[in-house]
Amino acid sequence: MFVSDILSQKGSAVFTVAPAASVAEVCQQLSSRRIGSVLVLGADGSVAGIVSERDLVRALARHGAKALELEARQIMTRDVVTCDPDDSIDAVMKTMTEGRFRHIPVVRHGELLGLVSIGDVVKARLEETQHETEALKAYIVAG
Ligand code: AMP
Repeated sequence: MFVSDILSQKGSAVFTVAPAASVAEVCQQLSSRRIGSVLVLGADGSVAGIVSERDLVRALARHGAKALELEARQIMTRDVVTCDPDDSIDAVMKTMTEGRFRHIPVVRHGELLGLVSIGDVVKARLEETQHETEALKAYIVAG
């Protein structure tokens, strides 16, 4: 199974904010959309960074209530690791586990095609395991 299989199920919508968006705005987005991260897009549409719940917790611990007045660009992770639609789900799972993050944008030739979360990856892997088990059972019964 590949990243493109996940995108064909969940679609290509990615929630984004501008670098100057306030942390309060980012919290609103995460809460109202029930998501765990937003991508920060530069003026040219390229990925400038990512802000996840973990960055918000870190900012709150560091700045207290004033964290809400900071801008996304001040708390985002700049070196965003991305994946390709043709990457296998196992490879992406490994990247996320080793990098200790739960979100990965899908980019090809500089174009943002979607975002995959660890939840999407686990769901896809479970479905794959289920299909394999069913195929094995059918094989045994047929034999
Ligand atoms: P997460 O587990 O996705 O909530 O993120 C944990 C930390 O990794 C946060 O500091 C995020 O900004 C950062 N992060 C999340 N996704 C990525 C990614 N694809 N590449 C690099 N850093 C990331």
